[in-house]
Amino acid sequence: MTVFANTQQAQQSFWHPMAHPASVRQSAVTRIVSGEGVYVTDDKGQRMVDGVAGLWNVNLGHNRPEIKAAIMHQLDELAYYQSFDGVSHPRVEELSARLSAMLAPEQMARVMLSSGGSDAVETALKVSRQYWKLVGEPERTRFISLRQGYHGTHFGGTSINGSLVFRRNYEPLLPGCIQIDAPWPYRNPWNAGGEELGALCAAQLEREILAQGPDTVAAFIAEPVQGAGGVIVPPANFWPLVRAVCDKYGVLLIADEVVTGFGRSGNMFGCRGWGVSPDIICLAKGITSGYIPLGATLVNQRIAGAFEQNGNFTGALMHGYTYSGHPVACAAALVCLDLVEREQIPANAAKQGDYLLQALKPFEQKFAAVGEVRGKGLMLALDLVSDKASREPVDPMDGFANQIARVARAHGAMVRPVGTKIILSPPLTIQLPELDILVNALDTAFSQTAPVR
Ligand code: PMP
Repeated sequence: MTVFANTQQAQQSFWHPMAHPASVRQSAVTRIVSGEGVYVTDDKGQRMVDGVAGLWNVNLGHNRPEIKAAIMHQLDELAYYQSFDGVSHPRVEELSARLSAMLAPEQMARVMLSSGGSDAVETALKVSRQYWKLVGEPERTRFISLRQGYHGTHFGGTSINGSLVFRRNYEPLLPGCIQIDAPWPYRNPWNAGGEELGALCAAQLEREILAQGPDTVAAFIAEPVQGAGGVIVPPANFWPLVRAVCDKYGVLLIADEVVTGFGRSGNMFGCRGWGVSPDIICLAKGITSGYIPLGATLVNQRIAGAFEQNGNFTGALMHGYTYSGHPVACAAALVCLDLVEREQIPANAAKQGDYLLQALKPFEQKFAAVGEVRGKGLMLALDLVSDKASREPVDPMDGFANQIARVARAHGAMVRPVGTKIILSPPLTIQLPELDILVNALDTAFSQTAPVR
């Protein structure tokens, strides 16, 4: 085998997603070579608490023998088979039944599998369009989403993403995608908070549906807690009010639970935390704890029923991926779901998340650059500001967040700089001693790093 690692050629060939090639070349790459439990180790031997669980996904921790064994067993039995058009295999059926059972309170009737979050969102958007054609309202094609929302990288997801930075390079995008203000207590046009803010944002959704014409709106899609956009926790009344607005105008409600699914926000599912049943739910990441790519899109009976029809439009789902229900991914998911339930992962996320939030809150007083520390369960963000009073964010180009992350890593905490925020999303199995390592490393990083003025 030719070993290129660390050579210039390897660095030139590997195209880093979500980064400028030149800036990656200039900075020292953090090269992770192994993982064990909630720790990862880089190629220089530095051991760090994985404060981001890979990419919000290694929820059960690294190197779990149960997950590896399930994968190996499935490889022996059947490494791959398709699931198109009347063909299937046991694992895809078992996983689909298992997911519908887990989401029985939300009355999810049918499961369509794919390879990740972007696939799951794309499926949700296409299924929504097809649903409206099937029920005789083909004009309903528009999608409304939230600013700061993140829904992946396919053209549909890119079109509904709430941050310009993800859309601009790829325009023109899908027509009829509209973003409204997110219920963001720290920064919103009304300077409102709590239930007042939740009501204002839900009213904005209603106004937008009316402005577009209710008979043109297919669906509203949002994350129960916005993740990549900066861990934005909506007021408790927002989702119930959104459900009511959607019901009033017949609009489908899609919950993008790619991050929040399987315990991250402290509830098994994010929408359950708000007491709301969506029409469609998108899942990925924690479903296999990141060991193998897998995505899932679940629909309720309202939608599943419509697909039984055959009129001008067919109820055949002319959408599917070679890896829809990959047997090895399904086997990994089945054991992960067992572990999530057996180890009461959502309860641990809620408990440890509360501790982490309380431990980091004093940073708001202690450090000039920390405007707000917020979160729910084990998804947290430190919002970095150049001016506390005006809440003006730091300049994303000045490298301050990157510098914080670099110092934190040197002190044993893998954290993620995202624009003007530091994101924390450790494995949901984390316990107190490792939370303290994260807090202390960040304390050192903020103490040693002067904000650029
Ligand atoms: N939806 C949400 C809410 C996400 O956070 C992400 C990825 N972080 C995606 C969709 C896309 O998932 P993937 O990267 O697996 O395609």
